[in-house]
Amino acid sequence: MRFISTRGGMVPTNFTDVLLSGLAPDGGLIVPESIPEVTRTQLERLRSLSYPELAAKIISLYATDIPTHDLAALTGAAFGPDHFPPPVVPVRTLNNVAEGLALVGLSEGPTMAFKDLAMQFLGQVIPYILRHGGRVLNVLGATSGDTGSAAEHAFRGQDGVAIFMLSPKDRMSDVQRAQMYSLNDTNIHNIAVNGVFDDCQALVKAINSDAAFKSTYSIGAVNSINFGRIAAQIVYYVWAWLRISDGLDSSDRAGHAMDVVVPSGNFGNIYAGHLARSMGVPIRRLVLATNENNVLDEFFSTGVYRPRGSAETLATSSPSMDISKASNLERFIWQLLGPKEFRHRWLDLETTGVLDLSDQLTRLSAEFGFISGSSSHRDRLEAIRRVHTATGTFIDPHTADGVTVALRTMEVGFPTLILETAKAAKFGETVKEALGAEQMQTPEITDLLGRAQHVVTIANAEEPLRAIIEAAALRT
Ligand SMILES: *Cc1c(COP(=O)(O)O)cnc(C)c1O
Repeated sequence: MRFISTRGGMVPTNFTDVLLSGLAPDGGLIVPESIPEVTRTQLERLRSLSYPELAAKIISLYATDIPTHDLAALTGAAFGPDHFPPPVVPVRTLNNVAEGLALVGLSEGPTMAFKDLAMQFLGQVIPYILRHGGRVLNVLGATSGDTGSAAEHAFRGQDGVAIFMLSPKDRMSDVQRAQMYSLNDTNIHNIAVNGVFDDCQALVKAINSDAAFKSTYSIGAVNSINFGRIAAQIVYYVWAWLRISDGLDSSDRAGHAMDVVVPSGNFGNIYAGHLARSMGVPIRRLVLATNENNVLDEFFSTGVYRPRGSAETLATSSPSMDISKASNLERFIWQLLGPKEFRHRWLDLETTGVLDLSDQLTRLSAEFGFISGSSSHRDRLEAIRRVHTATGTFIDPHTADGVTVALRTMEVGFPTLILETAKAAKFGETVKEALGAEQMQTPEITDLLGRAQHVVTIANAEEPLRAIIEAAALRT
């Protein structure tokens, strides 16, 4: 399997090289040259596998340059009991909320959000690649909460990798802050910036545009456009279908396609679902859920993609979806239009800020199965209450956006699976607001919040950041 750039300016490369690069050198996104196919017979053969075993099989379709027994060892470590309690991804029915509704538990990992599932895989495979090449990597990133903590927990204590993670000072939840700053591993560097998330991102961009500095200090990224993360996310779509069809006899399985509802921001999670569907996993519809920042809902309901700036991006109670420019969407649009047409029309977006694909609107749903919806703060509170009343289960505000859109779009006779993108306890404030006096704080969280924190605060400027990297970066 080889990988190319959506913009056409990269020599085809293999999976292990893709893992260590972010954007393609021409500024495009890296995509697989073709999509591997999984037949129904092959799917049936995967039914008896554990999650780590399934992950090795699915990822191997893309990671053709990693020997299969090495890959099995890597997924065994990534999805082992140290990081995820078996079965790793529980699928629970919500029939009491609505017949046919189920919750796919993606947030059982160390930082209580779905990003652990992809990041723990990178936390194994990247050190493996570095070891083989005698290389080191200094990961420089910016986080508004979930990505940074998932990355730090995946790479803590790993040889050959150091993490320099910028976060906006005083702008994360207490739990997010504690998950990051309580780590005291020597390869983890928490840097709080006196500024907002966009300032942190601008600093990362500034350092990355200094090619000499970047290469001297072996600086890289593990952000949401990394294809390794996408590959690892495909696995749970396959897993979810296998689990909901477990009880059926084989003649019923044949026609059993599911709808999957995905709380979305950067289009990374649902793009993995799109690949799973294209590979042959029985997904009828991919239902994209947004909050008030509804750029993607607008795209899938009108065909017009109009990214917004940070000034137009609202701060909502599902903050990990407060995104108005979905970096992974380029991958899907490239496939929708084909390479030639893509290059021509993508220019529109760069020159006018708008990409009008309303001529493709019917294909989005008819051919690719996408539909969408958005939710509000009130909807979120209502969904948290409704699920708790019917089942006793606590859901987080992002998953609640999924529940809201699921209840509006689901159709009788089709199983509707909502991806649980975070645990309620991680966003306890909003859950408390919905449920009144309910106590969200588990003993684990009380313990986490009480631990000593390790963070260096810097001004919103390049110089102090460079100084920290120069002093602490790993060198070969
Ligand atoms: C990152 C995140 C999302 C959005 O996922 P994308 O892949 O960016 O679409 C949704 N919910 C939670 C809790 C997240 O951390």
